[in-house]
Amino acid sequence: RHGLLAGQAALVTGASSGIGAGIAKALAGEGAVVGVNYRSDRASAEDVVAAIAEAGGEAFEIEADVTEEDGVEEMMRTFLDRAGRLDVMVPNAGIQKDASIDEMTLDHWKSVLDVNLTGQFLCARAAIAQFDTQPGPATSASVGKIICMSSVHQDIPCAGRVNYAASKGGIDMMMRSLAQEVAHRRIRINSIAPGAIKTPINEEAWQTEEAERQLLELIPYGRVGVVEDVARAAVWLASDLSDYVVGTTLYVDGGMSLYPGFRDNG
Ligand code: NAD
Repeated sequence: RHGLLAGQAALVTGASSGIGAGIAKALAGEGAVVGVNYRSDRASAEDVVAAIAEAGGEAFEIEADVTEEDGVEEMMRTFLDRAGRLDVMVPNAGIQKDASIDEMTLDHWKSVLDVNLTGQFLCARAAIAQFDTQPGPATSASVGKIICMSSVHQDIPCAGRVNYAASKGGIDMMMRSLAQEVAHRRIRINSIAPGAIKTPINEEAWQTEEAERQLLELIPYGRVGVVEDVARAAVWLASDLSDYVVGTTLYVDGGMSLYPGFRDNG
C-alpha cells in the first residue's frame, strides 16, 4: 500500500456517518487499515467499509458504544485482532442534545458529557496503553497519534447548548493535559475544531435556504464546510507532515472563530 499512512492502522469512532465516515475514507485513502466504529447503524458502517474497498483501501466495521468502559476495551481487542497494531486513534463520536437551560434535564447534560467527553477519554486511554506495547511503525517518527474531535464551541459559548459547549471545552483541557503527559513517550495528541460542517448532527442549520443564509453570516469564508475539509486536516495530523505538532487544536471553520460580527464594528 502507498500513501502517507502506508503500513499504519487507524481506528475512527462514530465513523458510520458524517465527519467520522469522511475521516475513515481519507485515512484509508492514504494507505492505513481503518476500523470503522459504529454504535447501532451497522448498515451504514458497512457502506463506509464498502466505499473504502471500492477505492482500493482496507477497512472493517466494529460495533461499540464509546460510553461503556468494557465496550471500548472490547473494541480495542477486536480492532487489534484484525489490524495487528494501532497507530492512529480518532475519538470522533459525538452527540448534541440542545435545550434552553430552563428545559435542560440532567439526562440531556449527562448523555452529552458521556459520549463527547468520557467517550473520548476511554478511547484515548485505550489507545495510549496500546501505543506503549508496540514498536513504532516503520513509516512514522512517532509511536502513535490521537486526534480528538472538538468544535469551535470549545471556545465560542453557545446558548441553548451548554452541555455540548462544556463537553468540547473539556476536550481541550483533556487533550492538552494528555499531550503534556505522554509527549515524551513520542505520542502526539492534537484536536480538530470544526466549525459548521454539513452532517446529520446539524441538518436543521443548513437544510433550508433561509437557515443556510443565517449560518453563512457566521462564516467569513462564505461557505458551509463539508466533511472532506475536516478529513484532510485529520490526514495531516495523523501523518508525519505534522510531526512536530503536539497538543494543538487545528480549527477547520472557515473563520467562524474570528468573531465575524466584529468585522464592521472595528
Ligand atoms: P454525526 O451525527 O454524523 O456523527 C456522530 C457519530 O457518532 C454518529 O455516527 C453516531 O452514531 C456516533 N455516536 C454517537 N454516540 C455514540 C456512542 N455512544 N458510541 C459510538 N458512536 C456514537 O455528526 P458529525 O457532525 O459527523 O459529528 C462528528 C463529530 O464532529 C462530533 O464529535 C461532533 O461534535 C463534531 N463536530 C461536528 C460539527 C459539525 O458541524 N458537523 C462541528 C463541530 C464538531
